[in-house]
Amino acid sequence: MNRDRMLARLEDRSTEWDLLVIGGGATGLGTALDAATRGYRTVLLEQADFGAGTSSRSTKLIHGGVRYLRNGELGLVRDSLRERGRLLKNAPNLVHPLPFVVPAYRAFDRYYHGAGLTAYDLLAGKLGIESTRHLGREATLERVPNLAAAGLHGGTHYWDGQFDDARLCVALAVTAARHDAVVLNHVRVDELVKDGGKVRGATATDRLSGQSYRLAAKAVVNATGVFSDAVRRLDDSAAPAIVEPSQGIHLVLDAAFLGGETAVMIPKTDDGRVLFAIPWHGRALLGTTDTPGVPVSLDPKPLDAEIDYLLEHAARYFTKAPARDDIRASFAGLRPLVRPPDAEKRGGVTAKFSRDHSLFVSDSGLVTIAGGKWTTYRRMAQDTVDRAADVAGLERRPCVTADLALEDRSGADGLKFEDAEWLEKLDPALPYRLADVVAGVRFEMAQTLEDILARRTRLNFLDRAAARKCAHRVVRLMADELGKDEAWIAAQLKALREAE
Ligand SMILES: Cc1cc2nc3c(=O)[nH]c(=O)nc-3n(C[C@H](O)[C@H](O)[C@H](O)COP(=O)(O)OP(=O)(O)OC[C@H]3O[C@@H](n4cnc5c(N)ncnc54)[C@H](O)[C@@H]3O)c2cc1C
Repeated sequence: MNRDRMLARLEDRSTEWDLLVIGGGATGLGTALDAATRGYRTVLLEQADFGAGTSSRSTKLIHGGVRYLRNGELGLVRDSLRERGRLLKNAPNLVHPLPFVVPAYRAFDRYYHGAGLTAYDLLAGKLGIESTRHLGREATLERVPNLAAAGLHGGTHYWDGQFDDARLCVALAVTAARHDAVVLNHVRVDELVKDGGKVRGATATDRLSGQSYRLAAKAVVNATGVFSDAVRRLDDSAAPAIVEPSQGIHLVLDAAFLGGETAVMIPKTDDGRVLFAIPWHGRALLGTTDTPGVPVSLDPKPLDAEIDYLLEHAARYFTKAPARDDIRASFAGLRPLVRPPDAEKRGGVTAKFSRDHSLFVSDSGLVTIAGGKWTTYRRMAQDTVDRAADVAGLERRPCVTADLALEDRSGADGLKFEDAEWLEKLDPALPYRLADVVAGVRFEMAQTLEDILARRTRLNFLDRAAARKCAHRVVRLMADELGKDEAWIAAQLKALREAE
């Protein structure tokens, strides 16, 4: 993915794109990949970096959603499990099976959870991972040594999928580019261009150079997550709100918090939420919350009350409870939930809103895809491209992504450096090397220090202090690769400090 070459393609004013996709999260990137592999001329513009919004801030599960089973959303669970199976097959180096335990503190719960999770296996059908089974008390504690032992009867052992969300974004972008899509980060759509009352393109600005572009397109897709309503209002200033953001946070703890490679799912906390504790890149993730009313932003921050909630619940379910000082990093994301017509009846409680996706087509033909889950991005993209092709009067071509392998090069593997110096780790406790920085810049369009620290590597998400410590080294290496000067280096370090 060469950014300059992609920008040069935007300059050609004679090009009319079949699809212009706004937003480079899971939904937009999936849509661009789907469209490009059908042979449509496709461009995607992302105002920040690929995955910089919600799509790098998830729980990192490719799952059917056990909770939705409880809510009776069988269709959503079945579709999600089918997508889980496809991703395990199409991106085996990016998505892997992860064992879970659901602890039972009442004898009845073992049978209740066992029955529910057996139904979950059945819904997965041929694309299932391994069967659910009961574990005795000792076997449960063997898998999760830090689980609270008092009153524990045993557990239910099941499997789901795990991934690195920001890396999958990059894989989608790289694969879309392989199929001739133009995918650009740090380019913001400012306005929609209309002709005869129909949306026929957009104006955009490269936020790194300030250069403006005007693009003509047969169909424009709004895949901007919690920003969907803002983009809808570029089309129609009176467009009603369709998205209700709900914040979820995660705390990142040392791996010793779990003490093993098995994740824990608490299916119902006092307030009806699900709690996950998951091993991830040598650390443990603890999440999540469901907080409505948080202002829309690209970099939302965990609220104190959310941190307290997670620490308090961790203390109930784990023997050695984490304290604030044990938090290596934390991150927040905003779920772009579609506001149901009966939102008031549900008391406005976002935890009760469906995680299914919806498509909206405005009178002027702007196609908005909202809601959904990371797990279902491919299915969402298929529906979106089908609809956009109809709206734009494009020749109907079948979707081909169900069996499409995703490009899975992890940064360093793409480099053939003989020199061991490139394999030096950025931090001894974390899996990233100097080569990952170089690969991120050369092959994965990383443009800023934050692109590398937050999404090409996950240093910012795994350990803030470690990320800060290696920032100087990373930024110098990036400056060499990108041909940048001292002023650029200083600006990058300043931006990093300000984002804290
Ligand atoms: C806490 C939490 C945990 C979750 N866990 C899971 C999970 O484990 N599994 C799962 O399946 N799902 C999970 N989800 C849901 C999943 O993360 C989201 O559904 C998904 O990431 C949404 O992707 P998106 O592309 O729609 O939005 P985003 O990732 O937010 O992408 C939208 C993009 O649009 C860009 N944009 C906005 N305006 C413009 C503009 N004018 N010009 C150009 N670009 C623009 C933004 O910069 C942004 O990058 C979780 C969500 C949260 C919040």
